[in-house]
Amino acid sequence: MDNINEKLGHYCGVVGIYSEDKINIPESLFYPLFSLQHRGQECCGISYRRHGHIITYKDVGMVSQVLTHYLQEDHPSHIGIGHVRYSTQGSNKLENAQPVMAACNKGEISIAHNGNISNSNSLRAELLKQGSIIQSTSDTEIILHLMSLNQSENFEDVLIQTLKKLEGAFSMVLIHNQTLYAIRDPHGFRPLVMGKKGGMTVFASETCALDILQAEFVREIKAGEIVAINEEGERSIQYHDNPTLHQCIFELIYFARPDSEIFNHSVHLTRKKMGQYLAMEDRVETDIVAPVPDSGNSAALGFAEATERSLEMGLTRNHYTGRTFIQPRKSQREFGVRIKLHPVKAVTSGRSISLIDDSLVRGTTSKIIVKLMRESGAKEIHLRLSAPEIKYPCYYGIDIPTREELISNHLTPDEIAREIGADSVHFISIESLRKCVDNPDNFCFACFNGDYPVKVKEEDLPNGEKT
Ligand code: SF4
Repeated sequence: MDNINEKLGHYCGVVGIYSEDKINIPESLFYPLFSLQHRGQECCGISYRRHGHIITYKDVGMVSQVLTHYLQEDHPSHIGIGHVRYSTQGSNKLENAQPVMAACNKGEISIAHNGNISNSNSLRAELLKQGSIIQSTSDTEIILHLMSLNQSENFEDVLIQTLKKLEGAFSMVLIHNQTLYAIRDPHGFRPLVMGKKGGMTVFASETCALDILQAEFVREIKAGEIVAINEEGERSIQYHDNPTLHQCIFELIYFARPDSEIFNHSVHLTRKKMGQYLAMEDRVETDIVAPVPDSGNSAALGFAEATERSLEMGLTRNHYTGRTFIQPRKSQREFGVRIKLHPVKAVTSGRSISLIDDSLVRGTTSKIIVKLMRESGAKEIHLRLSAPEIKYPCYYGIDIPTREELISNHLTPDEIAREIGADSVHFISIESLRKCVDNPDNFCFACFNGDYPVKVKEEDLPNGEKT
């Protein structure tokens, strides 16, 4: 990934709203989608029911660019869903934008999906064999084809039988006729929460999307559960006999917003705990603790508290760089980082620094940050990461580069320190990370330890990769 922050890419965020009274659904979807923008910046869209049909509008761009016109318009409706998408490089951005809508023999259906169907290659091959014409590379279209080909009369039977064919990660919201469905896969890889405000029910990837609507958090959608809501009320259907939680630990390390509560954990406080445990493993005394903003902020607070050292703003972040500088050419990478992050000389000069960040992917950006800190007079730089070493790809909705590109796959922490010019590098251990959450067995750690909760068949591996 040529992301300037060299962070892992997330695929999506979703929102679904059902209101007993007609409200301006597109406007009500706008604000929570805006709150979930960190989960995907490439494209976004909404679907809502109006005059007996589902209307879908989506485009490439941020929520503020694509959907702002809805704030000036009135579209009274009971039901709607929305989506923000991160797209992988090379994929056609608009063709993979969501929600994905289809009018088929089951009526009109629209789906917004967060995650990754890990058996999508096999399912796609099967569908093509049966004569389906698939227009995009998105998993969501496959779900619609499976539904359309299903022979059951009752839509909920169709839905359940389709879900049982899917493997991997899917938190999704779906409109069929006048019913809104919120669905979570049997492992609960991605978060999906429910909130209420008066007669309005909101489903969203994170609680920050409920907060913006002043909707009160009710509960998480359970692994293997469908919640259906329409004018007859709300129903919970457990469609899987043996759900086993494997929630993505990276949601708590990096993806989710610090003000969100997901997997029944405060994101900020969990990150702070990670900083505290990281500090307990650390043996190097430094003058100050400084985060790489914003991803290292919460962990740095915990680290500083545990070591009783002063927390300083060693780097500032320019929040106004916009998309122009997100994907610079390789030759511009250093300039891109300089534009976004800049050391505070008065803080760094002559100091030894524990520099706290969440994770190390390729190491290229960290190398530039260390260089900037050195130029600003830092005496020693000890990089501390609140994620363990990332050594394995993710098949459940996170865009992790190939094993060859992952720096921890071929270098030890000492070798990484030499490579990026730091005095030392230390990653939190998996054991300590497990202590930061309640019931660690309910979490996925596969990108750190290669222990995949859902095995992926060879034909379903991306780019011919081997497990
Ligand atoms: S492999 Fe890593 S990124 Fe993927 S779901 Fe598991 S913990 Fe999350």
